[in-house]
Amino acid sequence: MTGNTHIIGGLAASLAFAQVSNYDPVLLVGAGVVGAIFPDICHGGSKIGRKFKVLSKVINTLFGHRSFTHSLLFLVLMAFLLNGFINNDSIILGFLVGMASHYILDMATKNGIKLLYPLKITVRFPVTTRTGGTVEYVVFAALSVLTVYFGYGVFGKYI
Ligand SMILES: [Zn+2]
Repeated sequence: MTGNTHIIGGLAASLAFAQVSNYDPVLLVGAGVVGAIFPDICHGGSKIGRKFKVLSKVINTLFGHRSFTHSLLFLVLMAFLLNGFINNDSIILGFLVGMASHYILDMATKNGIKLLYPLKITVRFPVTTRTGGTVEYVVFAALSVLTVYFGYGVFGKYI
């Protein structure tokens, strides 16, 4: 999936989470968007990869694309890391929800992800789409609708 789809996916997921929890919605959603693009640090052409070129190159060389940074192991590792450095549950959970949304979206693509890394099993949904394909635009549109829906649910009372 493209970076924009991941951003809107992170928005929809963190807003949905904000609606069913009592965490700070602004921090939750902000961290959710960052978390949603973070796993593609393994890919130099991605939004985040272009910002951290050297780190991205190192990770790509060591693990390849869509493996370690797209795994449950990495998710758990990040949970520990964030817990150690950040003293705010809204930020930590938002980031992890964003990451999870990234995994789910990439599982809907043909290449899938190595969710169970270091096992070399590719995990994908039975029905998949190409990155940048027509279906991705449909997914993007659907996620936009969800974002507005959940966004209104969370922030509507301030309007
Ligand atoms: Zn990805």
